[in-house]
Amino acid sequence: MTRVLIAGGGTVGLSTALFLAHHGVRALVVERADGPSTHPRATGLSFRTLEFLRQAGVADAVEAVAIRRTATLGKIYAPTLATADLPDTPPAVPNTPNLAASRHSPSVLRGTCPQDRLDSVLLAAARERGATVAYSTTLVSFDQDDTGVTAVLDGPDGRRTERAEYLVAADGGRSAVRAALGIGTTGPGALGKPLLNILFRADLTPYTKGHHFANCTITTPESPGMLVTVDAEKDWIFHTELGDEPVDAFPPSRCAALIRAAVGVPDLAVEVLSVLPWRVRGLLADRFRAGRVFLAGDTAHAVPPLGAFGANTGVADAHNLAWKLAAVLDGVAGPALLDTYEAERRPVAALALDQALRRLEDPRLHWEQGPSAAAARAAAGVVNAPVVHLGYRYDSAAVLGARAGLPSTEDVVLDGTPGSRLPHAWVSPEVSTLDLVGRRLALLTGPGAAPAGDYDVHVVEDEEWLRDTGIADGGAVLVRPDHFIAWRGRPDEAAGAAVRVLAR
Ligand SMILES: Cc1cc2nc3c(=O)[nH]c(=O)nc-3n(C[C@H](O)[C@H](O)[C@H](O)COP(=O)(O)OP(=O)(O)OC[C@H]3O[C@@H](n4cnc5c(N)ncnc54)[C@H](O)[C@@H]3O)c2cc1C
Repeated sequence: MTRVLIAGGGTVGLSTALFLAHHGVRALVVERADGPSTHPRATGLSFRTLEFLRQAGVADAVEAVAIRRTATLGKIYAPTLATADLPDTPPAVPNTPNLAASRHSPSVLRGTCPQDRLDSVLLAAARERGATVAYSTTLVSFDQDDTGVTAVLDGPDGRRTERAEYLVAADGGRSAVRAALGIGTTGPGALGKPLLNILFRADLTPYTKGHHFANCTITTPESPGMLVTVDAEKDWIFHTELGDEPVDAFPPSRCAALIRAAVGVPDLAVEVLSVLPWRVRGLLADRFRAGRVFLAGDTAHAVPPLGAFGANTGVADAHNLAWKLAAVLDGVAGPALLDTYEAERRPVAALALDQALRRLEDPRLHWEQGPSAAAARAAAGVVNAPVVHLGYRYDSAAVLGARAGLPSTEDVVLDGTPGSRLPHAWVSPEVSTLDLVGRRLALLTGPGAAPAGDYDVHVVEDEEWLRDTGIADGGAVLVRPDHFIAWRGRPDEAAGAAVRVLAR
């Protein structure tokens, strides 16, 4: 019997397969498309997502495909790109990583990684570690009982049934699995007009003049829309409204004409690579679990793009779920551990949706910097993006002594509180405290005897880190395989705490 069947081989389905493989569980991913998506959608990976990739051993592979540039200009506005008011000399800003993130994390990407490039890394790594990814294969229906899920799959060799112990639904925002389970959603649903996302290749360097912006809103009435950088040189996306027309009404020639008008260069050489019709959506599933079926990624929460809370939140779901599924499948944890998935991830997804909606309403709250922007964000209830990615705390049965809520809306506060992510410090030039956390629970404590238990033990000597984590007085933290602190207390009580965290 397959241990875990994953419906959908997008970023979240592939991440789930990779993280499960990291924990020794070989999953089967079924994806109805005939190959990985080649259309970049998300481009910004949060530092938290990079931490997952580091733990799974693919950080270098992601770095290798990343685009090593930083969008120093953020968002700009212009009638056309050619008329954009860009100085001839770009500022001498080095391609530095996000310094705010490097305080908190060992993982800071130098630049961006478009989603299609990320998917190629996830796919190769998941397969290499034993996952099976079946393309051109659709999950048609499924049924569940006390011991597993029986799914009907339609693939290149026709229909067959597959029996699995658990099913992860990562089949996207319009999930058929979610509908079949009768799980409703809250949130505004489809927002704004249907959009067209055109991926194209053209040399725009004569018009960007060496500058790098994240996106440029084009205001010419001839072709209003938004130019989004993919590699800031030859690969770009043009977002425009589809209106009431079908997507067939936009053949490559018409798309190219729209792009030339948006750039403001009538004879620009343009190659249209792919066209993706899409709709901004805001929804949150009422439940993230029904028996042996778990909802992850856009299936569980679809959010507007501003803030980059879509793919990143979905990959974080996968990371939260994978170690729990593996621990229950291996008999290390009791089945009740799986209840903590919804208890932990749904509030995080609700925060991401709320914050993406606020940014959609007034994008300046996301893009503008400085003290007055911070004041405007506070007045509008906008939480800083890194806080949405990692400043939250879990409150569930897998955290003992949790203190839920956001300790700050402006900064990521990681202070050893149960339910928060373990504070990062370098214990040697290349090893972070996060790297001490392996496939089991980990007990981190200062020098001194630590009793054995159902966890790995690590002694950390960095006094500042011990103080920052609240264990300088001989205490210890019990850390879950997803880097979250499950418990903080006296080392001699750790063994009992581990039993409770694992619901044994
Ligand atoms: C234009 C655009 C820009 C975006 N920008 C950002 C951004 O900057 N940052 C960010 O974080 N997010 C962004 N997002 C959102 C991000 O792309 C999504 O959150 C992310 O793709 C969700 O991944 P997923 O795997 O959950 O779902 P999907 O990517 O939708 O994947 C679901 C997969 O399931 C497959 N499938 C569906 N039904 C079945 C079935 N029955 N059987 C088998 N397979 C099935 C589909 O073919 C699909 O491949 C953007 C999205 C768009 C459209």
